[in-house]
Amino acid sequence: MIAKTLDLTTQEINLLLPKSQDQIEAIEENKLLSENKITDGEKSVVFDVMQDHDAHIREHMKGKQTKAMRKHIELHYEAKKLAKQNPEFAMLSGNEQGQLATQEQSTPNQAPV
Ligand SMILES: [Zn+2]
Repeated sequence: MIAKTLDLTTQEINLLLPKSQDQIEAIEENKLLSENKITDGEKSVVFDVMQDHDAHIREHMKGKQTKAMRKHIELHYEAKKLAKQNPEFAMLSGNEQGQLATQEQSTPNQAPV
Protein backbone atom coordinates (compact mmCIF):
# COMPACT_ATOMS: atom_id res chain seq x y z
CA MET A 1 0.00 0.00 0.00
CA ILE A 2 1.73 3.10 -1.19
CA ALA A 3 -1.26 5.33 -1.71
CA LYS A 4 -2.39 6.10 1.76
CA THR A 5 -3.89 9.37 2.73
CA LEU A 6 -1.23 11.92 3.42
CA ASP A 7 -2.13 13.98 6.41
CA LEU A 8 0.22 16.89 6.07
CA THR A 9 -0.02 20.39 7.38
CA THR A 10 0.53 23.24 4.95
CA GLN A 11 3.88 23.86 6.54
CA GLU A 12 4.99 20.30 5.90
CA ILE A 13 3.79 20.50 2.31
CA ASN A 14 5.76 23.70 1.86
CA LEU A 15 8.85 21.92 3.10
CA LEU A 16 8.33 19.13 0.62
CA LEU A 17 7.73 21.35 -2.36
CA PRO A 18 10.83 22.65 -4.03
CA LYS A 19 11.07 26.40 -3.79
CA SER A 20 10.63 28.29 -7.02
CA GLN A 21 13.42 30.45 -8.36
CA ASP A 22 11.41 33.56 -7.56
CA GLN A 23 10.80 32.41 -4.03
CA ILE A 24 14.51 31.84 -3.47
CA GLU A 25 15.20 35.24 -4.98
CA ALA A 26 12.66 36.90 -2.72
CA ILE A 27 14.11 35.22 0.37
CA GLU A 28 17.54 36.53 -0.62
CA GLU A 29 16.08 40.01 -1.05
CA ASN A 30 14.43 39.75 2.35
CA LYS A 31 17.82 39.53 4.01
CA LEU A 32 18.72 43.01 2.82
CA LEU A 33 15.26 44.54 2.92
CA SER A 34 14.78 43.39 6.53
CA GLU A 35 17.73 45.59 7.38
CA ASN A 36 16.18 48.43 5.42
CA LYS A 37 18.90 48.08 2.81
CA ILE A 38 18.77 47.48 -0.92
CA THR A 39 22.43 46.62 -1.26
CA ASP A 40 25.25 45.36 0.91
CA GLY A 41 27.93 46.42 -1.54
CA GLU A 42 28.07 42.98 -3.10
CA LYS A 43 24.51 41.92 -3.68
CA SER A 44 21.64 44.23 -4.46
CA VAL A 45 17.91 43.83 -4.44
CA VAL A 46 16.92 43.56 -8.08
CA PHE A 47 13.45 44.42 -9.19
CA ASP A 48 12.36 42.90 -12.48
CA VAL A 49 8.96 43.13 -14.16
CA MET A 50 9.38 39.54 -15.28
CA GLN A 51 9.47 38.24 -11.73
CA ASP A 52 6.68 36.20 -10.21
CA HIS A 53 5.28 39.08 -8.20
CA ASP A 54 2.84 36.98 -6.20
CA ALA A 55 5.64 34.71 -5.01
CA HIS A 56 7.75 37.74 -4.14
CA ILE A 57 4.97 39.55 -2.29
CA ARG A 58 4.22 36.39 -0.31
CA GLU A 59 7.84 36.06 0.79
CA HIS A 60 8.35 39.77 1.41
CA MET A 61 5.29 39.84 3.67
CA LYS A 62 7.07 37.36 5.94
CA GLY A 63 10.06 39.64 6.32
CA LYS A 64 10.50 42.58 8.60
CA GLN A 65 8.40 45.44 7.27
CA THR A 66 11.05 48.12 6.97
CA LYS A 67 10.72 51.16 4.75
CA ALA A 68 12.80 49.49 2.03
CA MET A 69 10.70 46.32 2.28
CA ARG A 70 7.40 48.17 1.99
CA LYS A 71 8.68 50.18 -0.96
CA HIS A 72 9.83 47.01 -2.67
CA ILE A 73 6.48 45.27 -2.10
CA GLU A 74 4.80 48.35 -3.55
CA LEU A 75 6.88 47.96 -6.70
CA HIS A 76 5.70 44.40 -7.09
CA TYR A 77 2.08 45.47 -6.73
CA GLU A 78 2.64 48.29 -9.20
CA ALA A 79 4.13 45.89 -11.76
CA LYS A 80 1.22 43.50 -11.25
CA LYS A 81 -1.23 46.32 -11.93
CA LEU A 82 0.64 47.39 -15.05
CA ALA A 83 0.77 43.85 -16.37
CA LYS A 84 -2.98 43.60 -15.91
CA GLN A 85 -3.66 46.88 -17.69
CA ASN A 86 -1.30 46.14 -20.58
CA PRO A 87 -0.97 42.41 -21.13
CA GLU A 88 1.84 43.09 -23.62
CA PHE A 89 3.77 44.79 -20.86
CA ALA A 90 4.23 41.43 -19.20
CA MET A 91 5.70 40.15 -22.45
CA LEU A 92 8.49 42.71 -22.50
CA SER A 93 11.95 41.31 -22.46
CA GLY A 94 14.32 42.21 -19.68
CA ASN A 95 16.01 44.79 -21.93
CA GLU A 96 12.90 46.86 -22.28
CA GLN A 97 11.93 47.08 -18.66
CA GLY A 98 13.54 50.52 -18.43
CA GLN A 99 10.36 51.79 -20.00
CA LEU A 100 8.63 51.41 -16.68
CA ALA A 101 10.47 54.46 -15.40
CA THR A 102 10.31 56.58 -18.56
CA GLN A 103 6.64 55.94 -19.29
CA GLU A 104 5.51 57.58 -16.09
CA GLN A 105 7.44 60.76 -16.82
CA SER A 106 6.65 61.16 -20.52
CA THR A 107 2.86 61.10 -20.26
CA PRO A 108 1.46 64.05 -18.28
CA ASN A 109 -2.03 62.78 -19.11
CA GLN A 110 -3.92 65.77 -17.79
CA ALA A 111 -7.65 65.32 -17.94
CA PRO A 112 -9.61 68.35 -19.13
CA VAL A 113 -11.54 69.93 -16.30
ZN1 LIG B 1 11.06 41.19 -4.67
